[in-house]
Amino acid sequence: MASITLNHLVKKYGDGFPAVNDISIDIADGEFIILVGPSGCGKSTLLRMIVGLEDITDGDLLIDGQRVNDKAPRDRNLAMVFQNYALYPHLTVYENIAFPLRLAKGKHSEDQVDKLVTDAAATLELTDHLQRKPANLSGGQRQRVAMGRAIVRQADAFLFDEPLSNLDAKLRGQMRSEISQMQRRLGVTSVYVTHDQTEAMTLGDRVAVLKKGELQQIASPRELYEQPVNLFVAGFIGSPSMNFLPATIEGNTLQTAIGDLQIPEAKAQKAAGKKVVLVGVRPEFFEDAKLVEDHKQSNGSTFTATLTHTEWLGNEQYGYINFDPAPEMRELLNSLARDMDADELRPQVVVTLDAASRIRGGREAEIWLDTRKLHLFDAETGENLT
Ligand code: ATP
Repeated sequence: MASITLNHLVKKYGDGFPAVNDISIDIADGEFIILVGPSGCGKSTLLRMIVGLEDITDGDLLIDGQRVNDKAPRDRNLAMVFQNYALYPHLTVYENIAFPLRLAKGKHSEDQVDKLVTDAAATLELTDHLQRKPANLSGGQRQRVAMGRAIVRQADAFLFDEPLSNLDAKLRGQMRSEISQMQRRLGVTSVYVTHDQTEAMTLGDRVAVLKKGELQQIASPRELYEQPVNLFVAGFIGSPSMNFLPATIEGNTLQTAIGDLQIPEAKAQKAAGKKVVLVGVRPEFFEDAKLVEDHKQSNGSTFTATLTHTEWLGNEQYGYINFDPAPEMRELLNSLARDMDADELRPQVVVTLDAASRIRGGREAEIWLDTRKLHLFDAETGENLT
């Protein structure tokens, strides 16, 4: 196992803007790091630079403190676990796992091969399936065979490039937990690329969010969710997404298109000197005001809104509020959408309501918002001020 250090890594293809632009990350021995971001953000390029499939234009890549920029992939001792597992259909599980050992001709005796394969199979709970062909395995078992190959090589780290992206939602969920359990059991340093924020949030010790080749934030899933450094991370992480509302700010009062909100003094001070901000609130920090206990009311602000409709999910409900921003505020939302690579940011707020709420679409209702939990973003830079 190994630590991996990315030190100001840059990748340029031709004369274009860098696909990877000055990225520095210290990956600890045994750590599980996720690289996440929208299509084209450079996450696969970064992974390929680590494994040695792309040249490094600038910066240093260290494995266990040794600079490996110029080392061939086979000399880096990293194992790539590919999408679709890349198993050989005509070989048994045993031979699929043994494959990397057989490639290194003469390096291992037949006894050594047998020991490595049976040990890996035991770790991965594949002992009973060694004589089967991949076609006769479940998706999860195939994934484990692919990991078995990486294990027998005694690789210093596993690199995963969107291994689950072709699977249906149910299988993805199962595989996610398989990979997470295996990684923890083996304690092997792992880097995992995905564009799926659910995978990112559930798998990694830390998640690195990339945008246009640049690292936006690297933090634990919880910290990303609770303390996103900017609008991009705030909008990318979480489902349903964080709501964004343009607002003017005066003292402790935010004037928004859904009504005036009183915010805590400490938050207001963070936005001192600003006239316009973007307010970010996750859906779960709204509630039907009638269901909020009296002593909690003072932690928030209540406003009146007409929901267009509600969706009942059994354990909770989603409510939708459309708002009509002033023209300059609409322009702000549009520029924000461009920044986030979205077609548009709908002037809509999604709120999560308790399953017991009687609020229904088409009628005015009192909605409470936990103002301690809202974020204020700089309208120009997108930086989280709070
Ligand atoms: P996706 O999720 O779509 O795979 P990604 O985040 O993995 O995207 P990369 O594949 O790393 O993104 O690509 C980053 C940028 O580098 C993109 O703008 C892409 O067009 C560009 N790029 C990638 N490979 C090459 C190449 N071989 N030659 C030129 N440009 C490339």
